[in-house]
Amino acid sequence: MSARCTICPRNCLIEPGKFGACGVRTCLNDSVTHADYGLLSAIHIDPIEKKPLNHYLPGASALSLGSFGCNLMCRGCQNYEISRASCQCGGFKLSPEKIIHTAKTHQCPIIAYTYNEPIIWAEFVCETAHEAKLAGLKNIMVTAGYATLDTAKWLFSDIDGANVDLKGFSEDFYKSWANGKLQPVLEILEYLHSIPDFWLEITTLLIPGINDDTQMLKQEFEWLAAHLGTEIPVHLSAFHPDYKALDIPCTPVQTIQKARQLAQDIGLKFIYPGNVRLSADTCCPNCANTLIRRQGFHIEITGMNHQRCASCGQIIPGVFA
Ligand code: SF4
Repeated sequence: MSARCTICPRNCLIEPGKFGACGVRTCLNDSVTHADYGLLSAIHIDPIEKKPLNHYLPGASALSLGSFGCNLMCRGCQNYEISRASCQCGGFKLSPEKIIHTAKTHQCPIIAYTYNEPIIWAEFVCETAHEAKLAGLKNIMVTAGYATLDTAKWLFSDIDGANVDLKGFSEDFYKSWANGKLQPVLEILEYLHSIPDFWLEITTLLIPGINDDTQMLKQEFEWLAAHLGTEIPVHLSAFHPDYKALDIPCTPVQTIQKARQLAQDIGLKFIYPGNVRLSADTCCPNCANTLIRRQGFHIEITGMNHQRCASCGQIIPGVFA
């Protein structure tokens, strides 16, 4: 008998032995499950800045795990070798215990679920995060936030922070670029923002001529300021041609500069350029003192005293201890 998957808003009806749209969830014994539980495509030690999270334990190392598949279909996917691959194309398995042991052995206080969409391998993420938390580690997720609210409520229960890829700010864009919908992502963002002590940052990849329209960006920044607050860090990253979007050029530096200025004018306090040679230092929104200097993924904390600006005493949002 076929079964319906409720992990994400697609709600795929899956025939026995077939796969849902993400390519990895299947119908087995009348229920939906991940076809190859615990299968990973990659494990690396990354600086937390690479996720990117700029206000969560800056300078810490994150043991970063990826699996296969994705429940969005972005034309310009920059990880398509693993996001568009199904489980049958390789990979390796590690138990949660082995992952935790590896993190501890390599002085990684954080486990990051990243590289492909963690929502579609939710059960393994959940089990590993729970064990990691009991072992004194932190868990963070890099996600497009395309989950149902019911999934988010159990999936994020042991997750401490996330960077959510808000791909653009119109339903038309989500449909044509990612074959998805915007509204469910906004609901997940509001849910994550409501979790006590959960740390959230946002990334938007600016794609020339596709989602970099001033009006669309203005709507996005106004929504972020109104619903998630002006202190939420926002990463504005430059696109480069990839996958099925080889005809779109790289994002000009001026586009990132212009978008950053627009976000600042709307009141967002922490805007970080990505994939371009522009300063991504963290500065105090009150006195402009440089708090954290950044060169690539290397950081130096120069102007902070615990959670505060060392110059004016302003409390800086984030997890710094
Ligand atoms: S997680 Fe996969 S199988 Fe489940 S609804 Fe989403 S795309 Fe379909």
